[in-house]
Amino acid sequence: MANPMVDDVREIKEDNPFESMMAHFDRAAQLLDLDPDLYAVMRVPNRELKVYIPVRMDSGRIEVFEGYRVQHNSARGPGKGGIRYAPDVTLDEVRALAAWMTWKCAVVNVPFGGAKGGVVCDPIQMSIGELERLTRRYAAELIDIIGPEKDVPAPDMNTNEQTMAWIMDTYSMHARHTVTAVVTGKPVELGGSAGRREATGRGLLFVINEAIKRFKMIPPQTRVVVQGSGNVGGIAARLLHEAGYKVVAISDVHGGIYNPNGIDIYEALKHLRETRSFEEFPGVDTVTNQELLELECDVLVPAATENQITSHNVDSIRCKVLAEGANGPTTAAADEVFHDKGVFVIPDIVANAGGVTVSYFEWVQDRMGYFWKEDVVNERLQDIMVASFNDVCKYADSHAVDTRTAAYMLAIDRVAYDTRMRGIYA
Ligand code: NAD
Repeated sequence: MANPMVDDVREIKEDNPFESMMAHFDRAAQLLDLDPDLYAVMRVPNRELKVYIPVRMDSGRIEVFEGYRVQHNSARGPGKGGIRYAPDVTLDEVRALAAWMTWKCAVVNVPFGGAKGGVVCDPIQMSIGELERLTRRYAAELIDIIGPEKDVPAPDMNTNEQTMAWIMDTYSMHARHTVTAVVTGKPVELGGSAGRREATGRGLLFVINEAIKRFKMIPPQTRVVVQGSGNVGGIAARLLHEAGYKVVAISDVHGGIYNPNGIDIYEALKHLRETRSFEEFPGVDTVTNQELLELECDVLVPAATENQITSHNVDSIRCKVLAEGANGPTTAAADEVFHDKGVFVIPDIVANAGGVTVSYFEWVQDRMGYFWKEDVVNERLQDIMVASFNDVCKYADSHAVDTRTAAYMLAIDRVAYDTRMRGIYA
């Protein structure tokens, strides 16, 4: 097979998430002996759109922002993936995130492809009015390529339910009728799903519950370190705390707190909400984000952003289980070391798939116009997360590969099967 393989993952540019993703893709494709025609089609995105978004700022001046939407693969259904607002977001990052969505949707077997969006902006410096105008104009630029049957955006870093409500409204104004299923992660009152806000954190709880059984551990004996305290990290920490785990450290972008006897996560998150910082929270030591990652623990949950665990710090990381809440927190080079050290890795495309799973439930409910109770949502989420985790573990055992390679192989095989059955329109 003519696949250009990455023989030594340490040679790739470590901080480029797309290259990191491609290293895993190439390895899995090679092990699957993927047909070269399918490889050629699947290794590139279907479509990339770059837009320039003029926004009238509060000062009265116009500023132009750059935005992207990448639709990576639609073989299994409409594109699905969040929209990220950040000053340093790049097309390469959005491309990697879109591809991860393809593999994630395939690994949990929901009928979506992968997509992702990003706008280069600093939302912290912008007023609500500026953010609304930015969001509406960005949505207007995407109008031809998004839709319930085409591509269904959702929140990601620095976007939220309000952002989704503005996109839904803008799309609906152009369609001349309300189209709730164009986005997920909406407010519950506007066609959102019960349980969506907590879904990614809850999904993490379900897979961590399964993983610790492999070590014959129970929650009260299990020390957890969480990096990030946003939608994923904060909620995962709270749910793990409620389930009896000992959460010993948590952070936000400015740094973290540590207590080897466990932290009262309700109080810590309340303190963060009230003071916008973990600083001066009583009874804990402060740690930098780097120190936090290197704390001895049973389960490490990086739930902030990409490239947190690299060849530079992986040797200092001391956990039994790595549960990746963020997308791409571990570079391909660092991943090799985890494998050698025998750390049990729950890769991002499995560990944080709870969000997209309940997004799928939201899309289904919007299209039916019939909404489920939260316990129904959570039960169905648990079924899918536990089944996907077990599928990946079984695949890893039967193919004698690590769990990340297994997750990629399983996902790529499913996308390849569907592409082959549909045929390549070439
Ligand atoms: P968020 O914006 O709600 O929270 C991010 C958290 O990480 C905040 O606490 C922030 O202070 C912290 N942070 C940001 N940059 C950091 C840095 N450089 N170092 C340390 N901490 C940093 O975002 P989120 O929705 O929780 O998403 C976090 C990650 O999870 C992202 O990689 C995202 O793509 C991924 N993810 C999110 C969802 C979801 O449903 N929200 C689903 C799947 C994956």
